[in-house]
Amino acid sequence: MVKRDRGHALSTLAVHGTAPVREADAPISAALHQSVNYVQEVATADGMRYPRYGNGPNAEIVQKRMAAIEGAEAALVLSSGMGATACALLALLRPGDHLLASSWLYGGTRTLLTQEFATLGIEVTLVDPMESRGWRKRMRKQTRAIFLESPVNPSCRVVDLRPISYLTHDSGLALVVDSTFASPVNLRPIEQGADVVIHSATKYLNGHHDVLSGVVCGTAPYIEEVRQKMMTWGQAPDPFACWLLDRGLKTLDVRVRRQNENALRIATWAAGRKELRKVHYPGLPDHPDHDVARTMLDGFGGMLGIEVAAGGRATEKFLRKLKLWRHAPSLGGVDSLVIEPRYSSHADLSADERARIGIPDGFVRLSVGIEDADDLVADLEQALK
Ligand SMILES: *Cc1c(COP(=O)(O)O)cnc(C)c1O
Repeated sequence: MVKRDRGHALSTLAVHGTAPVREADAPISAALHQSVNYVQEVATADGMRYPRYGNGPNAEIVQKRMAAIEGAEAALVLSSGMGATACALLALLRPGDHLLASSWLYGGTRTLLTQEFATLGIEVTLVDPMESRGWRKRMRKQTRAIFLESPVNPSCRVVDLRPISYLTHDSGLALVVDSTFASPVNLRPIEQGADVVIHSATKYLNGHHDVLSGVVCGTAPYIEEVRQKMMTWGQAPDPFACWLLDRGLKTLDVRVRRQNENALRIATWAAGRKELRKVHYPGLPDHPDHDVARTMLDGFGGMLGIEVAAGGRATEKFLRKLKLWRHAPSLGGVDSLVIEPRYSSHADLSADERARIGIPDGFVRLSVGIEDADDLVADLEQALK
């Protein structure tokens, strides 16, 4: 584990941040400031507080903590992962600019890039992140940034950030990474050469299925630009969401480590089942990116994909028979969830299109929670029979 800020490890930073309040009578759990207005000094605009500006007390706690955790100069908390992605990219790109983005993206992000950005005069080229020299070949004079996710939803492919960061550094581009799937416990993209890190904090960072929020981390001047976008486009979080996120972050390290362990256990079990055609988990030695995962990640993550050999109808039966795992979208929380991408993130594609990008009918995505691994395996086993 790489030691950050003054020698403190991630688990310590996640609980305390960089400077815990130590005065007598200070609350151990931060007070919730559920107020949007604050008394302001007469005859000056200095120190004006308003949550939409990103300077509410509960937002500031999370921001300092996330910057420390990711090893960034600064961070901003926003109202959702999509809000974070939109403001992060709007702060980087102007009309006439060109963005290279991975073709393996969260559906909402893909819509933002391919539909909304076109109307703003920002050109986007989607690149297969596994194509050798694919990024370099599609670079233009107007290219400003490369945007990608790693690991990728739902195939759990792991894109190696290191060669891409050499390219972006050489060419003066920004490398922007949506690190939602990994969480900072398993990957700190800035350590691998990224410039900007985005999270849907709705997922692992909060981890309890009860907050919608997002985070952007980067240099202080850049985060100031993102803050300006957040203010103007109205993407700021509510104080209570920040308070819950602060609380969720305290257990990030134990939650994700447990999820890593549970997922590896489930993947190992699944790999031996005849009813399953394929298991997608970077922790398995036969996963195509196992070597990249071993050297880039501190843990293989809590997400995996399984393919039910008997196809679509059998998959529906399997899902209906589950007792512990619940069928729901989203991921990264303490409850174990299953979902079929064909009825969620990839519902817009035809069966053929899905099959072509590695999501055949029968593909089930598992978001592994923190329950007992034996109970989780037993439930999957009884439902497969
Ligand atoms: C969920 C998700 C998002 C969007 O986050 P919201 O908080 O739902 O807005 C973006 N990227 C990835 C990888 C996600 O899983």
